[in-house]
Amino acid sequence: MDTSSTTLSLPEAPRDFGFFLNGQVIAAGDRDVFERHSPAHDVPVTRLPKCTPDDLDRAVAAARAAFVDRRWSGLSGADRAAVLLKAADGIRTRLDEIAYWETLESGKPISQVRGEVGGCVGMFEYAAGLARSLHGDSFNNLGDGIFGVVTREPVGVVGIITPWNFPFLILCERVPYVLASGNSIVAKPSEFTSASSVILGEILTEAGLPDGVFNVVTGLGPTVGQAMAEHMDIDMLSFTGSTRTGRAIVAAAGASNFKKLGLELGGKNPQIVFADADLEDAADGVAFGIGFNGGQCCVSGARLIVEASVADQFAKMVSDKMSKIVVGDPLDEATQIGAITTDAQNSTILGYIAKGQDEGAELVLGGAALDFGRGQFIAPTIFGNVTSNMAIAREEIFGPVLTVMPFDTLDEAIALANDSNYGLAASVWTKNIDKALTVTRQVQAGRFWVNTTLAGGPELPIGGFKQSGWGREAGAMGVEEYTQVKSTHIEIGKRTHWIG
Ligand code: NAD
Repeated sequence: MDTSSTTLSLPEAPRDFGFFLNGQVIAAGDRDVFERHSPAHDVPVTRLPKCTPDDLDRAVAAARAAFVDRRWSGLSGADRAAVLLKAADGIRTRLDEIAYWETLESGKPISQVRGEVGGCVGMFEYAAGLARSLHGDSFNNLGDGIFGVVTREPVGVVGIITPWNFPFLILCERVPYVLASGNSIVAKPSEFTSASSVILGEILTEAGLPDGVFNVVTGLGPTVGQAMAEHMDIDMLSFTGSTRTGRAIVAAAGASNFKKLGLELGGKNPQIVFADADLEDAADGVAFGIGFNGGQCCVSGARLIVEASVADQFAKMVSDKMSKIVVGDPLDEATQIGAITTDAQNSTILGYIAKGQDEGAELVLGGAALDFGRGQFIAPTIFGNVTSNMAIAREEIFGPVLTVMPFDTLDEAIALANDSNYGLAASVWTKNIDKALTVTRQVQAGRFWVNTTLAGGPELPIGGFKQSGWGREAGAMGVEEYTQVKSTHIEIGKRTHWIG
């Protein structure tokens, strides 16, 4: 398999990946394996061990041992930064390989995955700086007899459970930040897209991360994932996935050791377009916001909320844009939307398209599976005449399906945007600064975009309001979330005695 050529071929046989324990790849041995089929090509591409709760226990024990003997947590921020910078180089070196296997497992376009993996290099570089700048606080104003210090310490053993839509990116929005303060990690990728997480293990070890600090168990959610949520020796768990699974995680954490949780859950994100916006920019942005990754994106701009005076004209502009999106083979450099990643997700999206029509929404564009002779693809789809009580307007579809709702006033736009259980992300398109700031202040969302959408990077924290989650990842907060705060009072000189 030559991944440097621009016309990539399918692998001749599925590649066996192991899981990653104590600095080593462990082959499946006599464990069951799952064979992942490319959702775009219907051929087997990877095989991974179905780890058991016993394997999880071994991984947690390795992470705990590494944490307790301070082989990583005891290093200086500068030494940790050096490893994170080497890991960034390692990702750069293996970028094409990661992109190739991730494309095959996920069905997302290769050019897009390369961009995502390139972004992960920046995550490691930025977190390296944070490893050196992480600090606490001091109180020199408590009087001559006492001095106060606030220090940050790593939480300990951190579990990370990731979904299938951005396997490497979501992992790298967490791992370098979690490592920056000295934690150890046990990661569990989605069973559909595990390969790149195991490759990250190899990269980290080559970069000098001590054995046991980063481990990957490959396995199923209801067994290994659930066991992580229940585990008495995992101190914190970062979960990214559906709101439904998030509820199970919260219950399991509460019933076990009250582990600290970070939750990044679903979204039903509004794109608010005012008549005074640059409508050409906005149309392209709205098409990108729902089309990117085939809409299988927690921050997809799935609800177009557009000022009534331009609603028809604008919907036509978006429809023209979306009809030109290139859907097809994700190994083709020109492809913009690849396959739908899982069979279940494919059925869910088609189910919502049928439901939208049953509910009386008007199908403006798409609305069907695309037949390329193999794989599962869905045409970019737009629904008009949508009302806020319809399921397609309320529930996360997680596919390339846009709903259009008009508004007359600014207050109405804000009310429509907030009429959701979710609060993950939102975009506003206007040339009027007052409208932009009012909407940004009043719409409940953890990420906001003004005259753009889906922009991101390592500096700004990410996370949701309402049922979209708890806590923040990335940015300086992405390190602080994985620390415990300790307050220390230090007596200076002779203590005033309590008993005379
Ligand atoms: P999912 O909840 O089915 O699975 C996510 C992960 O949880 C997988 O690794 C899975 O194996 C594991 N899992 C499943 N059941 C579990 C259990 N009982 N206990 C512990 N772990 C379990 O979600 P998905 O289908 O992989 O991903 C799609 C969902 O993820 C969407 O709802 C989307 O909005 C959300 N998502 C959110 C973000 C974000 O940053 N907010 C990012 C990506 C995806």
